[in-house]
Amino acid sequence: MKWRKPIIAGNWKMYKTAVETRAFVSEFTGMLSNRTLKCEVVLAPPFTSIHSAVIGTAGTSIGIAGQNLHWEDHGAFTGEVSGPMLKEAGCSHVIIGHSERRQFFGDTDETINLKIDAALRNDLIPIFCLGETLQEREAGITFEVVSRQLTVGLGAISISASESFIIAYEPVWAIGTGKTASPEQAQEIHAFLRNELRLLRGSEFSDSVRILYGGSVKPDNVCSLMNCEDIDGGLVGGASLKASDFLGIIKEGTEKD
Ligand code: PEP
Repeated sequence: MKWRKPIIAGNWKMYKTAVETRAFVSEFTGMLSNRTLKCEVVLAPPFTSIHSAVIGTAGTSIGIAGQNLHWEDHGAFTGEVSGPMLKEAGCSHVIIGHSERRQFFGDTDETINLKIDAALRNDLIPIFCLGETLQEREAGITFEVVSRQLTVGLGAISISASESFIIAYEPVWAIGTGKTASPEQAQEIHAFLRNELRLLRGSEFSDSVRILYGGSVKPDNVCSLMNCEDIDGGLVGGASLKASDFLGIIKEGTEKD
């Protein structure tokens, strides 16, 4: 039994319209009724489906996350969505620095730092993603890369409570590829990140902050990942799109001792 409360978060990427979201949430909340969850559950639908997700999960403990935000609260930034907008829409969390944002939309360690700051000042819990590419792993610079991402991403931001901050280690080579990091590979980086956090923020913070693993998590591999000391949950892409798979991950990952 983990002393840090596990989190299972689903990142829907650019899948599910508002109508599809309503159907998922109705099926999923039905499956959860009469269950006592041993973890926190978060769903990150596309912006246009957030309202459906918030309405459909009202009265449950499921948190709703944005998949990105702008670092300013308002302004002439066509196509962007801000922290106050996500908060007012009912979000509790926001994913920041996902590798697809870094790869396709120009997110950098510096803008990610600004976005984390924007999330916290708007009372949104950041799910701060980092991880190395295949080339970086093969070049033997994984530790250097994740250390830089962590250090620059956090910068000098003041984080008052470790419960209000989540890190997700997602090796880019494992996202959407079906190639999961082995539990040993994942634990090695999680332990490294926790130690880096101890140096940056002290032991109280590093011991209690939740570090999720993401990258092809499925019902049949989540248990061995969750058995690792420093893995506190999963950020799940593809397998969060089907209610029965997502529930399977919650059950296998957090309800087996
Ligand atoms: C993700 O989108 O964060 C992710 C980990 O995707 P998948 O589970 O599909 O690899």
